Amino acid sequence: MPLNIHSHIASLVPYVPGKPIDELERELGIPRAIKLASNENPLGPSPKAMAVLAGAAATLHRYPDGGAYRLRAALADRYKLSSDHVILGNGSDEILGLLARAFLSPGDEAVMADQTFVIYKMEVTAAHGKPVIVPLKQWRHDLQAMADAITARTRLIFICNPNNPTGTMVTAADVHAFMQRVPDDAIVVFDEAYYEYVQDRDFPDSLSWVLQQRNAIILRTFSKIYGLAGLRVGYGLTTPEIAGYLNRVRPPFNVNTMAQGAALAALHDDEHVARSRVLNASEMATVKAGLVALGFQPLPSQANFLFFDVGRDGRVVFDALLRRGIIVRHIEGRLLRVTIGLPEENRYFLDALKNVLS
Ligand SMILES: *Cc1c(COP(=O)(O)O)cnc(C)c1O
Repeated sequence: MPLNIHSHIASLVPYVPGKPIDELERELGIPRAIKLASNENPLGPSPKAMAVLAGAAATLHRYPDGGAYRLRAALADRYKLSSDHVILGNGSDEILGLLARAFLSPGDEAVMADQTFVIYKMEVTAAHGKPVIVPLKQWRHDLQAMADAITARTRLIFICNPNNPTGTMVTAADVHAFMQRVPDDAIVVFDEAYYEYVQDRDFPDSLSWVLQQRNAIILRTFSKIYGLAGLRVGYGLTTPEIAGYLNRVRPPFNVNTMAQGAALAALHDDEHVARSRVLNASEMATVKAGLVALGFQPLPSQANFLFFDVGRDGRVVFDALLRRGIIVRHIEGRLLRVTIGLPEENRYFLDALKNVLS
């Protein structure tokens, strides 16, 4: 049948989901595949979050609290803000979509890096905006070039910090200089999905821009260090004015009851967060050393993954690892990204990579 579809939408490439892990295990005839592909917490969910799920299950005949009163209040308290600064999403992915929907008119521009989180381009295009793509410089956001790319039509600017897939960061000084050049009416989106893993003391205090009433939003998530990727909950910290517009386009029950309850418990599970951070730091050093020993030069990472040039067709290496039950992420060409896993998973990965290469 004839179908009218806008060329912007037709041009989008659907997200290709990986093979379900149990399906891969069945095909390979192995008891357990090792997934190092999506930057999830290898320790699993916060135990405190798991403990509240059964109780929440008994209320599932009711709609969720559409205002997520308790979770928003807890987040506001954590950051010493009032609740009207906090917006929740079905993952921070959804908030990226709300930003595009609320703030882009057809033809409006959104500035972003070339190698960064793929959702920015997808959501901007779906909202009939124009992605303005600025190459990374030495694998980091080139904030000078991004400032140069701003025009009168720029409405959104995405800074993924630390950047996915490279793991690199921009510093407080970089961002300070950049913000002097951003016009007042453009919204700067600081996507800080890996914030809790960051070790570098020069990491920017992006909340300060919100507190100075600049048009900015900080995105964080329960999908990474909190270990709740499967529940889908992320949040934005922004001005009440921006939050108000996002709420106008937000589906009222976007964060479900289980997610709200588990996220609230996970937020207060400092022990799980601390344990996850410590494990990541020590295992990152191990994996990095292992990659260096194999002759690679992984980029310095502030997150829970490493990005490296594997020196040959990355797709071939990806497939060979997959046949050994290890799932990494092939970014493009010779570039791979690998999530830091449990100690035995990391050892297995390094051994398998060594075998694949020889
Ligand atoms: C994982 C990730 C997110 C989080 O996505 P959720 O929708 O909250 O699961 C956001 N931004 C970046 C850069 C990420 O890597």
